[in-house]
Amino acid sequence: MHNNHFPHRVKPAKLSLIVMSLALAACAGRPVLVQPEPPLSFATPLPPLSVNPELGLLLGAEQRRSPHFDERSDPADISLLVVHGISLPPGQFGGPHIDELFLGTLDGNAHPYFDALRGLRVSSHLLIHRDGRVVQYVPFDKRAWHAGQSSFAGRERCNDYSIGIELEGTDDTPYEAVQYQRLARIVALLIQSYPGLTPERIAGHSEIAPGRKTDPGLAFEWGRFRTDLAAALATDQSIAAGRVPP
Ligand SMILES: [Zn+2]
Repeated sequence: MHNNHFPHRVKPAKLSLIVMSLALAACAGRPVLVQPEPPLSFATPLPPLSVNPELGLLLGAEQRRSPHFDERSDPADISLLVVHGISLPPGQFGGPHIDELFLGTLDGNAHPYFDALRGLRVSSHLLIHRDGRVVQYVPFDKRAWHAGQSSFAGRERCNDYSIGIELEGTDDTPYEAVQYQRLARIVALLIQSYPGLTPERIAGHSEIAPGRKTDPGLAFEWGRFRTDLAAALATDQSIAAGRVPP
């Protein structure tokens, strides 16, 4: 596209005049905007992530505020991580509709499946897209509405004390490698930020709402995730101990 600034018909003499006038414009104090080449999408690095527990934010994630949240009964009690899978419409990836659902802007007429979602007020703290991009909809110290009727280790109302993380996917489509990497990194950060969280206190939505929910589904490889998480935690502990550079 940038090659078209000067059509081929422009003769070198005329070209130098144009260059000179541009230079004069610059000397006259007019701002000359230099447009850098847009980065190629496959080369765009994902931003590094960190957690600010005071703000309840995942830094490096895109921040969008869902209206679907309220106060935790005990903001200091964050002691469960819930892994979900979601796609809207089911099986279609990359569209705006998960975002719209969590922001309360989903058009019920946009797809036949969405008709049943009218009036549904749900959210999640985080969404990890297929390409590894992360969006935060609710700060961690607030209660997101992701678990519904649920129970973990005999305690009900998991929304009260959990952080919900959605992976864009379906129960039977392999999740992307970058989603496992981002999830492990995020969970490691959260475990180090909130004392009530441990590697043992992580559950799938299907586990806390059996018979009602099936996500993240058989496609989610728990062994792979736990291996990645252990590696992420070991790396962070080594950095904290000063054994390896960050
Ligand atoms: Zn779920």
